[in-house]
Amino acid sequence: MKISLDENEMPDKWYNIQADIDMPPPLNPSTMEPLKPEDMEPIFPREIIKQEMSKERWIRIPEAVREIYAIWRPTPLYRAKNLEKYLNTPAKIYYKWEGVSPPGSHKPNTAVAQAYYNAKEGVERLTTETGAGQWGSALAFASRLFELALTVYMVKVSYEQKPYRRVMMETWGAEVVPSPSNRTEAGRKIIEKYGDVSGSLGMAISEAVEDAAKNEDTKYALGSVLNHVVLHQSIIGLEMKEQFRAIDEKPDVITGCVGGGSNFSGGAFPFIPDVMKGEKIDIIAVEPKACPTLTKGLYKYDYGDSAGLTPLLKMYTLGHDFIPPSIHAGGLRYHGDAPTLCKLFDDGYIKARAYYQNEVFEAAKIFAQTEGFIVAPEAAHAVKAAIDEAIKSKKTGEEKNIVFINSGHGHFDLSAYDAFNSGMLRDYEYPDELIKEALKSLPEV
Ligand SMILES: *Cc1c(COP(=O)(O)O)cnc(C)c1O
Repeated sequence: MKISLDENEMPDKWYNIQADIDMPPPLNPSTMEPLKPEDMEPIFPREIIKQEMSKERWIRIPEAVREIYAIWRPTPLYRAKNLEKYLNTPAKIYYKWEGVSPPGSHKPNTAVAQAYYNAKEGVERLTTETGAGQWGSALAFASRLFELALTVYMVKVSYEQKPYRRVMMETWGAEVVPSPSNRTEAGRKIIEKYGDVSGSLGMAISEAVEDAAKNEDTKYALGSVLNHVVLHQSIIGLEMKEQFRAIDEKPDVITGCVGGGSNFSGGAFPFIPDVMKGEKIDIIAVEPKACPTLTKGLYKYDYGDSAGLTPLLKMYTLGHDFIPPSIHAGGLRYHGDAPTLCKLFDDGYIKARAYYQNEVFEAAKIFAQTEGFIVAPEAAHAVKAAIDEAIKSKKTGEEKNIVFINSGHGHFDLSAYDAFNSGMLRDYEYPDELIKEALKSLPEV
C-alpha cells in the first residue's frame, strides 16, 4: 500500500528548525569569533547565507524549484505490509521512499534549491565534493537544469571503485576529479603528507572550498550538515506529515540513517515542534559502528574539513583528522554531523544507535525479499532500525506506527551486496583508541 499526494499538495514552504532551537554560532576559523554573513560570501550565494542564519520558521520554496521537484515529488509513503507479515509484528511499518528522484536519493531536494539560488545570483560554476557519488550526481543533475558548470572532487577510492556514479555525473555534464588531487594547494599538501591515500570527504571538501574561494565566478555547494541543507530536506518530513494525516495516523517511531544528518533531519525535524509540545515520538538516528559520530564522538567545535579551512561548527565529531576505513561499504563516513541534529541529540529530543554492516545488509536483504526495493547501504541502516523496533513491538504487543526514511536505491552499490551475499563483508568497529587519537586534534576554542 502506498499513500501518495497530488502535485498540488506538495509543500510550498520549507520548515526551519532554527526558529525553535537556539544554536551555538559557527565560528570564523581565523578569529574564533562568531561567523559573519560576509565571511561566507566567497563560497556561498547571499540567499543561501541568509537561510543558513535565518530564524524564520517557514521559508517559501521558489516556484522554479517546485517545478523541478515535481519531476519526482511528492514522493510516496509506503506501508511495508509484506515486511510486517514476515516479522509477524503488530507494528505498522512505513517508509518514505526518496529513491524515485532522477539521481536516486533525497539529495536533489537541496541540490536543486542550491543550484537555483546560485544561478539566480549570476554564479557560473559550482564546486563540490562527493564520496560514493550520490551528492555529486544530485548536484550534477541540478546544475545542468540551471545551466551551471560543475567540478566534483570525488574521494579517490570511490572514483576508482564506483565508476557508474562518475559516468552519471559526466552524462549530466560535470567534470569529475579524483581527490586528493594536484589541482589545489590543499590536495597537494595532503599528497605530500600522506602519500597515495584513498581520500576522504574531509579532504575533498578542502579542495572544493579552495577552488571556489579562489575563483570569482565560482561558488561551493555542500550536500549535508549545514542548516540550509537541512532546511531544504524538511520537505521530506512535511510531506510525511500530510501523508499520515491523510490516513488519520501518527508515527510513534521515526528513524533514519545519518551520514551528515540531512535526510534524517529533513524527515524528523518537522515533527520536533510536536515533541516539544509533549507528543511522544521516538526519534532514532542510526549510524555505522565504523563511523560512530553521535554514539562515540564529542560535542565540540570542530572544522568541517580535514585541512581546517571551513568555519568551526559545534557538533558531535570524531575529529576532523578522522579517516574512515575504506573497507566500509556505506557512505556514512563523515566525521561530524549537522549542528542542528547534534543540538537536538544533546538536548535529548533524539536518540542514536550504531550497527555493524553485516546486520545492516541482512536487514536490507530481508527488505528486498519482502518489499522488493534494493536500498542503498546507507538507507539499509534505517531498515535495520525499523526491523528492530518492529521486533520490539512484537515482544510488548504494542501496535506502534514505525516510519523510516528510505533515502535511496542501491543500484550502484551492488558490489557491496555481492560482498555481503558471498560472505566477504567484514564487520568493523572503529577502535576507541583511534577515536581518542583523532579527537586530540580538536581546535582550542
Ligand atoms: C548521502 C546519503 C546519505 C547520507 O547523507 P545524510 O546527509 O546523512 O542524509 C544517506 N542515504 C543516501 C541514499 C545517501 O545518498
